[in-house]
Amino acid sequence: MRVIVVGLGAWGAHIAWRLARRGADVVGLDRHAPPHGFGSSGGATRMFRTACLEHPDLVQVARRSDELWRELADRSGRRLRVSSGGMLLGPADGPVVTGARQAAQRHGLPVEVLDAAATRRRFRGHATLPEDHLAVFEPEAALLDVDQVISGALEQARAAGARLLTGAGVQAVERRAGGGVRVEWVGQESSATGVLEADVLVLAAGVGNAGLLAPLAPELVEAAGWRTVAMPMTFLRVGDPDGLSIGDLPVFMRELEDGRVVWGHGVLPGADPSVVKLGVEAATPVPPGSGVPDLTSHDWAPVLEQGPLTFPGVRAEPVSGTMCRYDRTRDGQFVIGPVDHERLVWVAGGCNAHGFKHSAGIGDAVAEWLVDGYTTMPVDAFRPDRFADAVVGG
Ligand SMILES: Cc1cc2nc3c(=O)[nH]c(=O)nc-3n(C[C@H](O)[C@H](O)[C@H](O)COP(=O)(O)OP(=O)(O)OC[C@H]3O[C@@H](n4cnc5c(N)ncnc54)[C@H](O)[C@@H]3O)c2cc1C
Repeated sequence: MRVIVVGLGAWGAHIAWRLARRGADVVGLDRHAPPHGFGSSGGATRMFRTACLEHPDLVQVARRSDELWRELADRSGRRLRVSSGGMLLGPADGPVVTGARQAAQRHGLPVEVLDAAATRRRFRGHATLPEDHLAVFEPEAALLDVDQVISGALEQARAAGARLLTGAGVQAVERRAGGGVRVEWVGQESSATGVLEADVLVLAAGVGNAGLLAPLAPELVEAAGWRTVAMPMTFLRVGDPDGLSIGDLPVFMRELEDGRVVWGHGVLPGADPSVVKLGVEAATPVPPGSGVPDLTSHDWAPVLEQGPLTFPGVRAEPVSGTMCRYDRTRDGQFVIGPVDHERLVWVAGGCNAHGFKHSAGIGDAVAEWLVDGYTTMPVDAFRPDRFADAVVGG
């Protein structure tokens, strides 16, 4: 089976790897040279957890990712993760804590539920946690090194025979009347152009998905409410003489009393001890086809105000930051599977800002589904055809 994969970021790199490992003849294209910060995977680190409050079926996908990354680390010698444990915190009856507890109960996940006093004693970074808030601590949660994960998956894809073209922006995709697909690409830093044909096309282009899909499946793009937004990814100075280590502030997501969510982690071993990652969840719409927006003082304002109030020693002092774009859907869930009845064009997108931890599991599910005709992974809830009659073809 000849497969073209468009987009070689977090999801596309793993799709290419897993497809090539299953014997598919894979060509992957990317407009940039991943890993990079122009899409959804910028900003160095991502949280891995199996307490998936976003959808119960994702617990198994995260577990499969973990298995595959252990294999990838063994094969490549790369250090993909820092085993920090991870925390989901907030009001006892708020969505973050209740969602995490439900996922843990349903799947028997090994988590500890800590009251505010125990949390404050054990984790200095959360010394301001209000009395009626809880923490769900998952010891197996971790921090993923984005560049190592994506580079490792691309390396394995190549080793398994995939041909990967970078600096190749896909301009047009087409389902061919007689079967198969056709893709036109243009060089981003050269005058090169090319046309590729294959049996099947997989779109894993992140914020590029909706634009590429629009001519093929406009009803799907519309029904899914597919759109691009950007969120600040920010690093602040910590003035505390001892800093805030990853042990004091393991990777976390915390719901505040006003319902806003903050996330981040303490200082990694070997990193600058005066810098922590902290962000306040705030998505700004980005017009279709535009580039990465600038990170303005308006974007910095919430974290500069909230950081020092919530985390001991953190100063209202920006160190570095960027806007990170991602694709969102109406129901907040991924869109994974064929977009036409002939199963010529597939999509893996709609990451909704929680997809990194699932990228290896999703890559494996898509590869299995394409090559074997079915997948044992629970990804049915994310099929494009959940949007009624939005899939195309007859
Ligand atoms: C601020 C923020 C924090 C987050 N935190 C977490 C977290 O802690 N844990 C977690 O699990 N997830 C997190 N996420 C989500 C996670 O980062 C994304 O789900 C993941 O990076 C999505 O990967 P992707 O492959 O879909 O997109 P990308 O990595 O952006 O890959 C898409 C690729 O497609 C290429 N492309 C686009 N258009 C074209 C075209 N026309 N032709 C060729 N190539 C093209 C791009 O160059 C890019 O390389 C966060 C997201 C954000 C924004």
